[in-house]
Amino acid sequence: MTQETGGFAAFNLNPNILAAVAATGYEEPSAIQQQSIPIIMAGQDMIGQAQTGTGKTAAFALPILHRIDPAKREPQALILAPTRELALQVATAFETYAKQMPGVTVVAVYGGAPMGPQLKAIRNGAQIVVATPGRLCDHLRRDEKVLATVNHLVLDEADEMLKLGFMDDLEVIFKALPATRQTVLFSATLPQSIRAIAERHLRDPQHVKIQTKTQTVTAIEQAHLLVHADQKTSAVLSLLEVEDFDALIMFVRTKQATLDLASALEAKGYKAAALNGDIAQNQRERVIDSLKDGRLDIVVATDVAARGLDVPRITHVFNVDMPYDPESYVHRIGRTGRAGREGRALLLVTPRERRMLQVIERVTGQKVAEVRLPDSQAVLDARIKKLTNSLSPLVADAEASHGELLDRLTADIGCTPRALAAALLRKATNGQALTLAAIEKERPLVPNSAPRGDRADRPSGDRPDRGDRERRAPMPLAEGRARCRTALGARDGIAAKNLLGAILNEGGLAREAIGRIQVRDSFSLVELPEDGLERLLAKLKDTRVAGKQLKLRRYRED
Ligand code: ADP
Ligand code: MG
Repeated sequence: MTQETGGFAAFNLNPNILAAVAATGYEEPSAIQQQSIPIIMAGQDMIGQAQTGTGKTAAFALPILHRIDPAKREPQALILAPTRELALQVATAFETYAKQMPGVTVVAVYGGAPMGPQLKAIRNGAQIVVATPGRLCDHLRRDEKVLATVNHLVLDEADEMLKLGFMDDLEVIFKALPATRQTVLFSATLPQSIRAIAERHLRDPQHVKIQTKTQTVTAIEQAHLLVHADQKTSAVLSLLEVEDFDALIMFVRTKQATLDLASALEAKGYKAAALNGDIAQNQRERVIDSLKDGRLDIVVATDVAARGLDVPRITHVFNVDMPYDPESYVHRIGRTGRAGREGRALLLVTPRERRMLQVIERVTGQKVAEVRLPDSQAVLDARIKKLTNSLSPLVADAEASHGELLDRLTADIGCTPRALAAALLRKATNGQALTLAAIEKERPLVPNSAPRGDRADRPSGDRPDRGDRERRAPMPLAEGRARCRTALGARDGIAAKNLLGAILNEGGLAREAIGRIQVRDSFSLVELPEDGLERLLAKLKDTRVAGKQLKLRRYRED
């Protein structure tokens, strides 16, 4: 049941604005819109606290458009945003909502573009100015009166602006505006510095707070995967095989990692590109546009480079490198599940990063379930499913157009239609592995079971990528020893001394008879005497360690 407040119509906005909103396809106002629009329409000051993706832009843009006078050709509303990207986004949104308001113009003012045309657009009567604080101050230095007619000010993402060091610029801008203006401040967080600004520059503000953390996150299915740092690329490639994604963003920590991973993906035939702080602004916009329209499917980005990125096609976020704090985790995964759509977020966790995973779970109040790497069967199934999906629409009219040719070719070649179809399939799939055996051969990574070298767990990128085969080469066994494995590992609370104690006690061995003990996360390896091994294992059959069955088995690697 919609309440009578439901729907945009209940706001009594200018019908031209309502028509434009309807044309964008919005059906219901979001929570922040529901609460902010009446306050801003009434001309009151306001502090709005809500996370990314909650629809803040329309929450201020619609009532401000309602309040401006299109007949007056002078700046009436000023929106401040932290980055050029965000300023452009807000300006575009204003243009969309103002489409049916003749005479309303919007100008975006930001650094890195010539100042002249921006100033000219303002003087030519743009009613809406969307600006980054730094560049706007440059304009004020040239013409301190340029903002004298502004009677609505919006600080969008105020906390980000302060983080970027715009505090002093904001003070300059406040001074250049009429004291009687309306001021609206939006921020995801309200640290003391923001509250101080509000205290000084807002008048009797209404507070609107939207608890979206869980809401944003619940639309997103979250999972994590335990992986060693140097196996992240192969893990990502395996996951991509089975994830049904539209567009995907991967987060890494370094510029180099964006380049390395993007080129690994490209090498596998994915339409992927890197996005990092070194990439020139126009190139960056090209990448984002390509992701929007499907010329790219994957963008590998650092947190800074992805700031403000809003592409509705994104169905998946891969956190390839751990975010620095839970907040940025929430921020990152908010890139998917935009505006109530479903999304999926995967987090790669190296053994050392387990603690951070727990912190994230605590802060978001949600369990991030563990998933395993897909096995070869799952990869095969996914590949066949893709092939089926791509071929089935082609079958319908193929016989009519190419049936006769098929008859002729099978006759000329002297083969069965099945043989010819198989040959065509081989050609069409371009050498892709499409049997279990072939897939197993191409995948060096055995899901979550391969023993790893002692120091496999390091941050990515700090050693050259040696072949998986070499890295997995087992430690040479001493003469007369056999390697045994148990599925108990560090995650079960096992330490080497527990294993040693249990085997000594229950197996009745001398300490010297037991060789190396390696405790890994999800399993452990123990070197035991080959001589009498079967008897020893039988003896240890019911042994428990840390409350769990040891189930020690001979371990063979080939
Ligand atoms: P925020 O600034 O809070 O991060 P945005 O204003 O950028 O969020 O909006 C996020 C996305 O949601 C945009 O793609 C926007 O078009 C869409 N959106 C906003 N309001 C609505 C609505 N009422 N219905 C559907 N989609 C909406
Ligand atoms: Mg926003």
